[in-house]
Amino acid sequence: MKNWKIGDALKWATSFLLDSGVESARVDSEILLQRILDADKGKVLSNADEVIKDNHAAVYQEMVRKRSEGVPTAYLVGTREFMSLEFVVNSNVLIPRPETEFLVEEALDFLKKKGTNSPAVLDIGTGSGAIGIALAFYYPGTRVWATDISERALEVARINAENIGVSSFLKFCQGDLFSALPGGLKFDCILSNPPYISGEELKNLDETVRDFEPEVALVAPDESISFHKRIINEAPGFMKKGALLGMEMGIGQEAQVKILLQEAGCYNNINMIKDLSGIFRVITAEFN
Ligand code: SAM
Ligand code: GLN
Repeated sequence: MKNWKIGDALKWATSFLLDSGVESARVDSEILLQRILDADKGKVLSNADEVIKDNHAAVYQEMVRKRSEGVPTAYLVGTREFMSLEFVVNSNVLIPRPETEFLVEEALDFLKKKGTNSPAVLDIGTGSGAIGIALAFYYPGTRVWATDISERALEVARINAENIGVSSFLKFCQGDLFSALPGGLKFDCILSNPPYISGEELKNLDETVRDFEPEVALVAPDESISFHKRIINEAPGFMKKGALLGMEMGIGQEAQVKILLQEAGCYNNINMIKDLSGIFRVITAEFN
């Protein structure tokens, strides 16, 4: 494409993506172009008449085509912001979601209120490392054990801990939930955003999620809250008295998860937090 201007490229990409059914067409078009031109949003938008180099135009067209086929924008640009930190992502990790920030905020509030010095925190199913790394960054001195069943996800999490400058505060362990950990650990806080989608629900999920994000990060075996159940039952062996357990949940799971916590008989101060769409997204409880 010769003499393609920024403004025209954005218009083309937006209408191409809209025609392909991508709702976030305009935003995605901007994010992809920003990445290719290595420019921020302001620079892209205020230079509509600037001509794009031919090689950049070719890369842009290819990226927009991939986006139109459903590939998530974050995988195309290779990063996603979470808690105002930049995380590297690839198809081996779930793209961190804004609603997961509520879980991190709850944990930060809890630690600040208690004033715990260098707390021990467990992040189960760390994926890109989003939860554990954000905590280590915003609550200096936190020691985080971050686990995942997926070694490929842990590779990404290690890179993020290094890039964000907190790698000396994190330990990464591969394995199934608590079995990944060395013996004898007791935590001040256990957090998890576990897979919580049933095999049936997966079929109806947005294709950008269903066909591109790792199934191991999305789908819970047996029933959608099976990981919550296991975590609630196994966590007491790994918590200090008064420790916080915090988990993310899917739409409509709050009543069942709350009952599991009540029935376990060793948790109090059960608290549920809504996300910006009014969905109960996070549940926390203290171990007594
Ligand atoms: N914590 C990240 C976040 O919030 O963006 C990723 C959450 S993703 C929904 C769930 C993560 O749990 C995935 O990284 C997946 O590999 C991991 N996982 C799945 N089954 C697991 C298991 N049995 N034990 C430990 N981790 C598991
Ligand atoms: N929040 C993700 C979604 O809606 C699912 C993440 C999870 O299963 N923990 O696609």
